[in-house]
Amino acid sequence: MRIMMGIPASPGISIGKVFLYSTQALNVPAYGIEKDEIAGEIERFQDALDRVRADLIELAEKSRETAGKKDIEIIETHIMMIDDPDLKNQVTQGISEKSRNAEHLVESTISGMAKSLETSNDEYLKERAVDLLDIQSRILHHLMYIERTSLIDIEEEVILVAQNLLPSEVLTMNKKYIKGIVLDAGGKTSHTAILARSFEIPAVLGLSTVSRKVRNGNRIIVDGNSGEVILRPNRSAVEKYENRLKDWEKHEIDLLVLNKLPAETRDNRTVLLKANIEVPEEVDSAAAHGADGIGLYRSEFLFLRPGEAASEEEQYESYAHVIRHMKGRGPVTIRTIDVGGDKVIPGLDDFDEENPILGWRAVRFCLSRKDIFRIQLRAMLRASVYGELHIMFPMISGIEELNNVLEVLEETKAECRKKHIPFDENIKIGSMIEVPSAALVSDVIARKVDFLSIGTNDLIQYTIAVDRGNEKIAYLYQPFHPGVLRLIKMIIDNGHAAGIPVAMCGEVASDPMSTVLLLGLGLDEFSMSPMSLLEVKKIIRSVTMSEARELAGRIMGMESAEQINTYVKEWSNERIDIFSS
Ligand code: PEP
Ligand code: MG
Repeated sequence: MRIMMGIPASPGISIGKVFLYSTQALNVPAYGIEKDEIAGEIERFQDALDRVRADLIELAEKSRETAGKKDIEIIETHIMMIDDPDLKNQVTQGISEKSRNAEHLVESTISGMAKSLETSNDEYLKERAVDLLDIQSRILHHLMYIERTSLIDIEEEVILVAQNLLPSEVLTMNKKYIKGIVLDAGGKTSHTAILARSFEIPAVLGLSTVSRKVRNGNRIIVDGNSGEVILRPNRSAVEKYENRLKDWEKHEIDLLVLNKLPAETRDNRTVLLKANIEVPEEVDSAAAHGADGIGLYRSEFLFLRPGEAASEEEQYESYAHVIRHMKGRGPVTIRTIDVGGDKVIPGLDDFDEENPILGWRAVRFCLSRKDIFRIQLRAMLRASVYGELHIMFPMISGIEELNNVLEVLEETKAECRKKHIPFDENIKIGSMIEVPSAALVSDVIARKVDFLSIGTNDLIQYTIAVDRGNEKIAYLYQPFHPGVLRLIKMIIDNGHAAGIPVAMCGEVASDPMSTVLLLGLGLDEFSMSPMSLLEVKKIIRSVTMSEARELAGRIMGMESAEQINTYVKEWSNERIDIFSS
């Protein structure tokens, strides 16, 4: 047995068996063959094609129950590619003319085909390059007799252990069977962690070497509340965690009584508790946990699935679904595409940057790809007739950028009016404040919009200059750094001076340790993953505003994150009831 301590990234406890997922590149062999080996080599290639086709047909069958229409279409495209006579001819001709092995010809032929698609001007063809590389990997795995571990193929309950996972991999994996996620890399506010919370999968990240310490099938315990991971646990550890799991489940059920009660302090100040969602289906969980609306719909996840980018119709359907389901409960805040950084659109290799976190992200991307931006805005405007839509812009760094995106929005509205496309003329507009320069000019920004929403995940990253996804420096990622708290206070005060509400949709809003402090600083709305809502509501209902203001006053006079952490911990232990694993 071995106990490891990582970053608790998504709450819950799981006991199960390891599925080791490796994304390491294949070492493809290249060698010459004798003339009399050519026929056998071609046969080996044909056999690999047949086996890939059989795998894909089986996968398509399995996926009909669990995957979306789009995922099945992707598999069907892959089957068509396998049957493409051009591919078969080029590889077999290469084997016989060059007297080289099948793996080498499969790699060079398909890479060449993918490269020419990537340089095409046709967006559809460009995106097919990713599909070609996917089938290339499938054929090579068969030729090299390496078992391919695909996350949608998983068919039994497992705990996924890997070096790292991309947000797009979490999005497409077979979530029904993934009972826990354990990674060498990652931080609490990485998008992989955010998605694990969305799908309610317990996760511990930032364990550095865990993927080298387990084997497929090993027993493992994941405690996403404390950050503990137990490899090959003994009997008494399993019993201990089975009891913890029961306590956790009871705690979750006990919280449900708060569902229909308002988020109101003991002296009757009401704040709004809204949900963050990443995929439209999550709206059910938001409603079930009593959310007062959607404070952040991360629309970019519609674009991160491999295959075609989301069409206007697909976007419209998704936005309309969420807005309809929240009607009567509260507004839906859709954030315009926030790609870049760790969220890369598959097949768009323009994202290959030296400094992606400081690079072509969010509104910077949208303002240079106005074609994509206008389509998204039009889909949102069309969906606005079904309820109350708010539109929010990410990564605004100053007033010029805000003016530029507002101009595109106005142009899109004008176009809709001209074409008689109905939309709500009173849509509220918000700016995220997640870049320090925007925080410093939030007084100016606040005069231009209807609300502000603080994105602490990025605000902390940029203020302290600490990569939010890098486990090596996770100790520096301090929400209670006085520099961060001063910016948060400044944003709230500036919003209020301009007469508009201030929300927070970064992960700090969901941390029970921060709730009373944020109340005391005057935050109006808290938005978080649906599963965190009731715990935060419980805390809000247990304090008064004067207590909260007093706590905030004391903390704002402190000099270091360490001092503030200790004070808040002691205060919370005495005053509020937080579940501890
Ligand atoms: C944030 O930065 O706090 C935020 C909510 O946006 P994201 O996590 O998607 O970057
Ligand atoms: Mg952000």
